[in-house]
Amino acid sequence: MEAPKEVDKVFRCLRCKSSWCRLCELPWNDDHVGQTCDEAALKIGVQKKQRDLERMASEAVMRKCHRCNLVFTKDEGCNRITCRCRATQCYICRAKDIDYTHFCRHPLIPLTPRTCCQKCLLWENPKTVDENAIIHFGPTASKYIAVIEDRCHNTHLQKAPAWKSCSLCQLAFRFGSEIHRCDGCEVMIHVECRENMPKPCIPYKPPCKDKAGGLRIVDYCADLRPRLPFVVLRCVRFVDADLHKPGLYTSNPSGVLGDNVLTVLHQEQQKSMQPLKDYDSHAVAECLLAFLRNVRDPVIPEVSHSDFFAAGTENPDDLEVCIVDLPAPHKNTLAYLFLHWQRVLGNADRNLIELGMFVRVIANAVMRVPHECKAATDVVKRLLAIDKSVYERVLEIDIDS
Ligand SMILES: [Zn+2]
Ligand SMILES: [Zn+2]
Ligand SMILES: [Zn+2]
Ligand SMILES: [Zn+2]
Ligand SMILES: [Zn+2]
Ligand SMILES: [Zn+2]
Ligand SMILES: [Zn+2]
Repeated sequence: MEAPKEVDKVFRCLRCKSSWCRLCELPWNDDHVGQTCDEAALKIGVQKKQRDLERMASEAVMRKCHRCNLVFTKDEGCNRITCRCRATQCYICRAKDIDYTHFCRHPLIPLTPRTCCQKCLLWENPKTVDENAIIHFGPTASKYIAVIEDRCHNTHLQKAPAWKSCSLCQLAFRFGSEIHRCDGCEVMIHVECRENMPKPCIPYKPPCKDKAGGLRIVDYCADLRPRLPFVVLRCVRFVDADLHKPGLYTSNPSGVLGDNVLTVLHQEQQKSMQPLKDYDSHAVAECLLAFLRNVRDPVIPEVSHSDFFAAGTENPDDLEVCIVDLPAPHKNTLAYLFLHWQRVLGNADRNLIELGMFVRVIANAVMRVPHECKAATDVVKRLLAIDKSVYERVLEIDIDS
């Protein structure tokens, strides 16, 4: 049992070698020793800084009127937002001063990705809205998303192995018949099922067994740009389709997937094109965290911790440099994850995520620090507040080279 905060109020973090007051979360240093929390706060004047951090994190996820700065969110109604100041804005892509020609006029076919045009949808019932579709097919789709979501399968013909069935229609292959196999995701399908194969191809990396000390992030990445572990790709895309789920990442799911997402993915990868389909987004989010906690090297490796801590608490502008300095699989993964987590927070009005808890959980997953490490939660708050174009650059710079 942990001692109550009132009894043992100093938290000493073994990772960043710093000490914090567990009551007020201020650094436990000469300014606080022998002083009450209020006295210390006054002395250091950091309460304001703390509030600024909270503000930065929540501003990153809000919509704002470009003319009068009114902050808003939307539940029902059409996506052409008219502010009290009469300025208009598209709720989906945030385009300014729009009229109804901004939106798609084509009839929609339910449950199918839209292919008619790239325009935003005027009406979208928030209950059936597919966040995934907005992100992936909307006019604001960025290049990295296009690269990931449009990746084609690379199939070639081979003889059907015994006792296997088609990943798409699930019917058994006739032994010895010709089938298609994708080099990327390793699925096997009937020749006649080839044209119905859904995109994208999520390249798979079979486990390399004899690595002493466990697998690193790079061991899960196919040799494609951006470099992302297939586990992260699968889980993020899955959770992205269900961003309204209450308690994502922050409450314990009752799902059975537990830490075994890897086992499931390894087993199901060749059997189904949607290996996670039997699970709910809650469990998959939890699995993603478990993967990040258990992979041999954290997304923000320990050697970079001091740089990130310094940037997180003193020089926020340096944070971008810290990210860019990480090895490719790490910086790509970090950028891809934080873009996703920003989308999760962007739906906080529906998934009701509590920011403090969310930040602690993420800090624990990407830096592997104790939940109370204040330096790490400060870093994560800043990472959540970074403009998404920074992360997009990190993911896209490698695509061309
Ligand atoms: Zn204190
Ligand atoms: Zn306005
Ligand atoms: Zn729009
Ligand atoms: Zn259209
Ligand atoms: Zn494939
Ligand atoms: Zn088939
Ligand atoms: Zn710490």
